[in-house]
Amino acid sequence: MIQDLHSHTYYSFCGRDNPEQIVQAAIDGGIELFGITDHCHGAGHGRKNAYKAALQIDLSDFERSLRRYYDHMDLIRQKYKDQIKILCGIELNTEGHLPNAAVPESADVSFFDYCLVEQLDHEDSITGGDIFTFAKRCGCPAVGIAHTDLFSHIAKIGADPSDYFKRMAEQNIFWEMNVTYDSIHKYIEHPYMLEFFRNEAQQDIVRRSGARVSVGFDGHRVEDYLPQRIADFCKKLEDLEIPMIFS
Ligand SMILES: [Zn+2]
Ligand SMILES: [Zn+2]
Repeated sequence: MIQDLHSHTYYSFCGRDNPEQIVQAAIDGGIELFGITDHCHGAGHGRKNAYKAALQIDLSDFERSLRRYYDHMDLIRQKYKDQIKILCGIELNTEGHLPNAAVPESADVSFFDYCLVEQLDHEDSITGGDIFTFAKRCGCPAVGIAHTDLFSHIAKIGADPSDYFKRMAEQNIFWEMNVTYDSIHKYIEHPYMLEFFRNEAQQDIVRRSGARVSVGFDGHRVEDYLPQRIADFCKKLEDLEIPMIFS
């Protein structure tokens, strides 16, 4: 199945497009399963420049705004259900130095189909580098580790890669192959992702563990979207017999 599980709309401070525009681009590009994953601080604060203002923002309506975002995506899911399968996700910022940009500790995000966790490997991540505890806090059916050099992170914390990926499989935690290639990300590909597709030892560890992966374009501008790139990477994973999270 051709699936893109990482995209942004105007609910993200860095996004711009109406959600229906990106859904239409996904349909036109032949995507079969499409996940919308706006930033928690954009969705929770009602989009506008939330990140820049993150230190001064009042968090009292955060949960209501998250619900509003979810409800909007859910309406779009129903509207397009005969053309594409849509998942309502959210990307959770975990930077400790911008506490109001991260999802508040009390906020419920378990009603999302899945969440993507970013900055897991940052020094000041509120996850403390521990995805297993943080995934439980999220409570979503599936939790993804977004754009992270996971093998380096595992080495840094001194864990055994096979054990780590097995544990991920048990908790339905998946690893994102972020295949972005667009103006927002300055046409830079993620080195960890390129390495994974070259490195047979890494592929073997993931394949044997039963852990799943995802493919995400991390789109922020509809004119930059490259659905063929998504299809190509989904095919590569299929050829490697590494299963994707929603199959
Ligand atoms: Zn991100
Ligand atoms: Zn993103």
